[in-house]
Amino acid sequence: METVKKKDIRALTKEQLRDFFVSEGDKAFRGNQVYEWLWQKSAHSFEAMTNISKETRQMMEANFVINHIKVDQMQRSSDGTIKNAVRLHDDLVVESVLIPTKTRTTACVSSQVGCSLDCKFCATARLKRMRNLNPDEIYDQVVVIDNESRLYFDRPLSNIVFMGMGEPLMNYNNVLKAIEKITSPEGLGMSPKRITVSTSGVPKMIRKMADEEVKFKLAVSLHSAIDDIRTSIMPFNATFTLADLRESLQYWYNKTKSRITYEYVVWEGINDQQKDVDALVDFCKFAPSKVNLIEYNPIDDGEFRQASNSAIDRYVHTLERNGITVTVRRSRGKDIDAACGQLANKQ
Ligand code: SF4
Repeated sequence: METVKKKDIRALTKEQLRDFFVSEGDKAFRGNQVYEWLWQKSAHSFEAMTNISKETRQMMEANFVINHIKVDQMQRSSDGTIKNAVRLHDDLVVESVLIPTKTRTTACVSSQVGCSLDCKFCATARLKRMRNLNPDEIYDQVVVIDNESRLYFDRPLSNIVFMGMGEPLMNYNNVLKAIEKITSPEGLGMSPKRITVSTSGVPKMIRKMADEEVKFKLAVSLHSAIDDIRTSIMPFNATFTLADLRESLQYWYNKTKSRITYEYVVWEGINDQQKDVDALVDFCKFAPSKVNLIEYNPIDDGEFRQASNSAIDRYVHTLERNGITVTVRRSRGKDIDAACGQLANKQ
């Protein structure tokens, strides 16, 4: 007998849910109630929807599924960082990370299974891109981390960064839908100012975000402001050149007036010279910028090595002298491969 594949109920908008209940001879309001269970209360089953009649729950069960993510494995680092290996409904696995500091808890979430891009220093790039995550799969990672934050740190999640597996702007529509739910009072009600989308720089999409006047923050993984060097470590730079990237960022700033953050790792023998620093200063000049110098987390092959402290100091002094805000960010969760560029489904 042929089995009918049931639809994921969370793919429906609130309007579509309301229409569905009307078409079943029920009230449109039932759609609102179910929507609240699905998003605000993150119900994993129809049975959990206790203010809905048994008949209606059975009817939903016959028509839909709720494809909730499952945490396969949770690892805790000695510095408090938590890494979740998250199993999706089709058995693929992505990772998300909770990063605690004294005052905040940040969720680092994935947007794709694997990645469409091929940064040479990144463990995720070695996984083939299998598919984009759905909005609900992104949303669920945030809910899981919010719960962990309340459980282990006695406070709700405060910030979200799209810096896990995948290039978020290559899955733009679903990332945006997830952010809509995260920021909506009918979802988690978080402020968009607490959300940062980190991209390796897809100019067309940066312009689109600017046109849509999104309210979240933008970070760019830059790593070099010299085309040849950037292309050697981030090969897609041959297509999306620095000039194009810079133009799109200028467009973004003109529209949003929102400061741009650059993520930047300094590697020995790659981008640790004065000319590299000068190029970065020059690149940043067109708009208020902040540079996060990130400590590098080696992946197995040792091809990339963290630069010396004196090279980092040179960056800090030159950037500061030129009025550019700079922070040196130590990486967290290294002992469980949860740090930037290390997410690769290794358990
Ligand atoms: S650094 Fe980001 S964009 Fe580059 S391959 Fe890794 S996950 Fe993809």
